[in-house]
Amino acid sequence: EGLLRAIPRLDTEGEVLPTIPGNPPNLLRLPTGCPFQERCHRVSEICGQQSPVLTPFNDGRERACHWVSDAMN
Ligand code: SF4
Repeated sequence: EGLLRAIPRLDTEGEVLPTIPGNPPNLLRLPTGCPFQERCHRVSEICGQQSPVLTPFNDGRERACHWVSDAMN
């Protein structure tokens, strides 16, 4: 979601692109649960407990997010 919002628009000049706060996690010491939890504005309790599972999305892509799973049910 954050990455998609950061795509520059060619029809808007001088637009300030949104950024995602924080830094990427240390890949050698990933936290329990979702590795994006420290930077996510939708984080919830389950994100720190369980890694989200990759699930099919439209047009053959996959996504892994507890919030999306809850929002789609
Ligand atoms: S599982 Fe989804 S809602 Fe939870 S921290 Fe990760 S990206 Fe955010």
